[in-house]
Amino acid sequence: MNVPLLDLGRQHQAIETELRAAFNTVLRHGKFILGPEVVEFEKEVASHCGAKHAISCASGSDALLLALMAFDIGPGDEVITSPYSFFATASCIARLGAKAVFADISLRCYNLDPADVLKKITPRTKAIIPVHLYGQAADMAPWLDEAKRRGIRVIEDAAQAIGAHYRGRPVGGFGDVGCFSFFPSKNLGGFGDGGLMTANDDALAEKLRVLRVHGGKPKYYHNLLGVNSRLDTVQAALLRVKLPHLEGWAAARARNAALYTKLLVEAGIASPSQGCNGCTHEASDEAGKAPLILPAACQSRHVYNQFVVRTRIPAARDRLRDHLQNAGIGTEIYYPVPLHLQKCFAAWSYKAGDLPRAEKAAASTLALPIFPELTEAEIREVVRCLGGFDWRGE
Ligand SMILES: *Cc1c(COP(=O)(O)O)cnc(C)c1O
Repeated sequence: MNVPLLDLGRQHQAIETELRAAFNTVLRHGKFILGPEVVEFEKEVASHCGAKHAISCASGSDALLLALMAFDIGPGDEVITSPYSFFATASCIARLGAKAVFADISLRCYNLDPADVLKKITPRTKAIIPVHLYGQAADMAPWLDEAKRRGIRVIEDAAQAIGAHYRGRPVGGFGDVGCFSFFPSKNLGGFGDGGLMTANDDALAEKLRVLRVHGGKPKYYHNLLGVNSRLDTVQAALLRVKLPHLEGWAAARARNAALYTKLLVEAGIASPSQGCNGCTHEASDEAGKAPLILPAACQSRHVYNQFVVRTRIPAARDRLRDHLQNAGIGTEIYYPVPLHLQKCFAAWSYKAGDLPRAEKAAASTLALPIFPELTEAEIREVVRCLGGFDWRGE
């Protein structure tokens, strides 16, 4: 039995008629740029995320860039973020000539260690970008008040976490701007690229709206230097078909994660997750004996964009991936190179060993199939193949 990492075909088959109807409507009215579906979709996402404003744009990467631009971040400024994330989390900082200051992560939930964030704040810190990685909120409370007191902007990278909660409220609303992505593999996946920013401040929301249309307001009069970054009307129309299903899909992802956890613990492959105690402590994850370490679900609502396990012995990870691939099971490594060691960021002068927990995660994590339409038989097959792996090595 082959088990793919992701199969969007199953999701789209179930709603194909509605998708075609939405496409046809846009084809007929022809308002392809910032058409009526964009306006409606923004309202619906704002309501879903509990935000006053939602401003769509061309990608999650652009959402991050536009948010930094709105705060005039540039040369001489520092932005604290996670070294263990998708490239765009840091490239937006580099694009504007600012410096990324990386804080280390927790090895239990893979999000920023809040104690390290506090340590990295300097008079030059202009913004903090917490990443809600894999669909789970980063712990922000320990540094949020301090950031606000110092006038530091908070931009949440919620690209993987639409619908996730932190302390009972949706992510994206804790900082100044929440950034979301509709890349096809995200929980609300579009049919191409797409992104969105949430904000509660009226003036900030207006600035973001102007920045996404070249900074022109009124049209052809440019007081701001913006970019061209809009969500296509056709994307918005198709995403509106998907949005009402998002909660159900997140619940299915959580059910899949619970089944993996139960089966892996029963099989003795993984120890029960111990929770994360606020993400601050170092390596208590080494406490158990089982060869596979499960992700900690420490925040109030995890939406499982990914289900990422870690091999206790880092060197076993690549062999495990080969083993699963030979058995027809799709996996992925998110992410093999921590951002501080990417060659294009050499000017920031980080070196191996600077952020040991991020480096360890990059060397030992593996994402298993978790998409909502995955069947119980498929999950059992993945666990069976994990059980057939020679954990002791050569
Ligand atoms: C996907 C992703 C982005 C970028 O989103 P795009 O829509 O692909 O540009 C940014 N940050 C994280 C954490 C992501 O997973």
